[in-house]
Amino acid sequence: MDNELFLQEFNEAISRDSEEIKKDKYMCNDQFYNYIMGVVTDICKEMSYEEVQSGKQLPVIHIDEMFDLALDFFKSVDVELYNKANAIVNGEYPNTKTYIYDFHKDDPEHTTHYGIMYEDGKARVFLPLGKKISETERNRIIQEHGEDYYTIDDLYSTVHEVSHLFDIDPEKYTKSPSKTRDVLAETTPHIFENLLSEYLLKKGIFNEDVIKEKSASISNLLTTHANVFRIRAIFIELKRRKGEITDEDIQSMMKNDMLGEDEFFNIINLIAHSDVSMAENKRYAFAAKYAPLIIQKSKEFPDKKLLQKYLYECSQNVSVADILSVFDIGFKDDDGFKDDGDLDK
Ligand SMILES: [Zn+2]
Repeated sequence: MDNELFLQEFNEAISRDSEEIKKDKYMCNDQFYNYIMGVVTDICKEMSYEEVQSGKQLPVIHIDEMFDLALDFFKSVDVELYNKANAIVNGEYPNTKTYIYDFHKDDPEHTTHYGIMYEDGKARVFLPLGKKISETERNRIIQEHGEDYYTIDDLYSTVHEVSHLFDIDPEKYTKSPSKTRDVLAETTPHIFENLLSEYLLKKGIFNEDVIKEKSASISNLLTTHANVFRIRAIFIELKRRKGEITDEDIQSMMKNDMLGEDEFFNIINLIAHSDVSMAENKRYAFAAKYAPLIIQKSKEFPDKKLLQKYLYECSQNVSVADILSVFDIGFKDDDGFKDDGDLDK
C-alpha cells in the first residue's frame, strides 16, 4: 500500500468531515455534537461484531412470493401498516412514486439512488432489486432459477425502504430533515428488520441459520457506522489541534482504541474512501441502540400500541426526548439545542 497517498486521502477525508460538522445545522452546535459523540461512543462500547460467514449463497425467492411475504409480514404487525405497505408497493401511496427494478438489468437514471428521495412534498421510493449481490451472482441466479428470482436480501431491503415511509408525512417533508428525523430516520426501518427476522423465524420459511446470519450482518453494519462516526470525530479533533494527521497518530490511536487492530484499520480505510456522511453514520448508530428497546417496550404493553404511537409522533416531528421517554430511553434534548420550529421549512 502506498502509505503516503493513503495518509493524504485520509487527511482530506477528515477535512471534509470537519466541514460537514460545521455545515450540519444540528451538529454545528458544540453542545449537541458533544452529546451525540458521547451517545455514539457508549453505543460502540455496547456493540460487538458478530461472526458471519462470508461468500455464502443466499436463499432465492420468486419476486411475487417476496412481495407477498413482505406484505404478510406487515399484516402480522398491524393492518394499517399493511394497507400502507400495499399502497407503496403498488404505487398507490399518496404523494409517492415507487420504482421497483432490477439493479443489474434496468438502467434508469435512478439506479444510483437507493432508498427514498423527497422533493416538493413528494416522495420517490427506489427498490433496486439485486443491488447487494454481484453481477456474477445475479447471472447465476437467473440461469439456475429464472429472471424473476431474487434473494432474501431483497426481502429485507423492501421491508426497510417501505417502512421509511411509516414515520413520515411526505407532504410535510422537505430536503432538510427535522431534528426528530435527523436522529431517528434509520431507527424505524431497523425496528421492522428486527421484526421481520422474528416473523421469518416463526414462519420457518427459511433455515434458521440464514435468518440469524442476516440479522448479524445487519447488526455488524450498524456497529460499523457507529465506529466510523466515533473514529471520524476523534480524528477531526486531532486534526484541528495538529493540522496534519501522521502515520504515528494513527498507530497510537489504534493502540488506545477499544477496537482490535484489524477492525480499527478497516474503519480507517472506510473513512478514507467513504461517501457516507457523519449525519448518516449517526442515524444508523442510534438505530442499533433504540430499535431493540422500542420493540421490547411495545411488546411489554401490547394494549398501548406504542409502536404505532412512535411512528405517528415521528411523523409529527415530536421532540426526540418526548418520543423516546415512553420507551425509557433518555435523550438530552433541552433548550440548549432544541429545534426552533423554523428549521424544517
Ligand atoms: Zn434506511
